Amino acid sequence: MRYLSTRNKQASFTGAEAILRGLSPDGGLLVPESIPTILPSTLKTLADMSYPERAGYIMSLFLDDFSRQELTEYAREAYSEAKFDNGEAAPLRQTGEREYFLELWHGPTSAFKDIALQMLPRLMSASLAKTGERRDACILVATSGDTGKAALEGFRDVPRVKIMVFYPRDGVSDVQKLQMTTQEGKNVGVCAVRGNFDDAQAGVKAIFADKTIARSLENRGYFLSSANSINWGRLVPQIAYYFSAYCDLMKSGAIKQGERINFCVPTGNFGNILAGWYAKEMGLPVNRLICASNRNRILEYFIRTGRYSRVRKFHTTISPSMDIVVSSNLERLLFTLSGGNDKLTGRLMKRRSKFDVAEDMAQSISQTFSSGSCNDEDTRRIIKRVFKEKNYLIDTHTAVAYGVYEKYKQETGDNAVNVILSTASPFKFCTSVLRANGRRNFGKNGLDAIKRLEKFSGVTAPAPLKALFGKPERFNKETEKQDMPRVVANFVGVANAE
Ligand SMILES: *Cc1c(COP(=O)(O)O)cnc(C)c1O
Repeated sequence: MRYLSTRNKQASFTGAEAILRGLSPDGGLLVPESIPTILPSTLKTLADMSYPERAGYIMSLFLDDFSRQELTEYAREAYSEAKFDNGEAAPLRQTGEREYFLELWHGPTSAFKDIALQMLPRLMSASLAKTGERRDACILVATSGDTGKAALEGFRDVPRVKIMVFYPRDGVSDVQKLQMTTQEGKNVGVCAVRGNFDDAQAGVKAIFADKTIARSLENRGYFLSSANSINWGRLVPQIAYYFSAYCDLMKSGAIKQGERINFCVPTGNFGNILAGWYAKEMGLPVNRLICASNRNRILEYFIRTGRYSRVRKFHTTISPSMDIVVSSNLERLLFTLSGGNDKLTGRLMKRRSKFDVAEDMAQSISQTFSSGSCNDEDTRRIIKRVFKEKNYLIDTHTAVAYGVYEKYKQETGDNAVNVILSTASPFKFCTSVLRANGRRNFGKNGLDAIKRLEKFSGVTAPAPLKALFGKPERFNKETEKQDMPRVVANFVGVANAE
């Protein structure tokens, strides 16, 4: 299987090359040249497998320069009991008739990013060997909170890789900040940026585009790489849990084989829901993919109208991992739906203000996707009500999805089985969840808030979050955006001298 750039189809790469590069040199994203299909009988076979076996199978269809055995072995390590509560990467939880949550946050950093970022380091190490790459990887990440920690945890002490994470000083929750500043590992670096997420992201992009930096890294034996969701190696592990959820429903008798179900996905960069789209294209019986946004509702509008407007104002919300204006992964969808029109895709993505897609493209989008949004006030109300009525505690991102799912059901009367993707533990956003439940007192620090939420809800917080508070702070540096290149140079230089 080759991977093509969405902006120049002539550029093609193997799976291993795509994983190492992250992005095509022309700025395009890498997409599989064709989408493998799965027969209904294969779903039955998958249903009898463990999660790592299911993941290994699905990934092997896309990454044919890896063996299925090899991928299953990585999945066993990535989703082991040592990493995920009870060794369950993606358990379903029923909360109503034909209503389920897919809990994707049982991993080491309590957000769904772990599912991809426990796998990506293993794929990357193997890709270094498979391609004969001699340089080591220097991974740069700009994070609004969840990706940074999940990437640090995934790549810590991985040979031939160094990873540097930048986060906005004032844009992450107390727990998220502590997760990053106490990070262990010899090959990691963390630095706060004075500014918001956009500043951190712009700083990282500028480093990627800077030829001088690339050369000086090259001289030290490094190439730059990305662990953001533009990397295909992050997307492909996510396709597996859509299949896994379906298999579990089939196995429990909740659905008949071939019955079509809905997935409702809290969306930011469009990575998670795009994985669901690939699953559907492969033949998974999906009825609708429901795209849920917070107040940053550009995607809602796009799915309804076919018009993408980037000029909208950026809103800060209580679901920060979905605060995003430009959803990068949309590029993959546009490329594929336009029949692989690289010129068109490049042109659309480079537009600064807005673009409209052609009628037939808008139509095929609305045939699969539904959309909706939920503001902060409603999100809080939903957290409170779901806890009261179902005795089920959800985080702010998952609550946005639940709100959108309820509205969708009301508007359409659609009675298909619904799976809501639950993307973070409520304990990652303690203060917001406490406030939603009418609490006003959060204690002195993040640990107090965790304890208060435990006491209030009767739910135990994930152990890795509670363990944070005994850990020494390792990273307390701050930088201006324009000094980020120096931080990276120091990081690589110092790390090299070790
Ligand atoms: C990253 C994230 C999202 C958004 O996922 P995308 O793949 O960027 O659409 C939603 N919820 C949480 C908790 C996240 O960390």
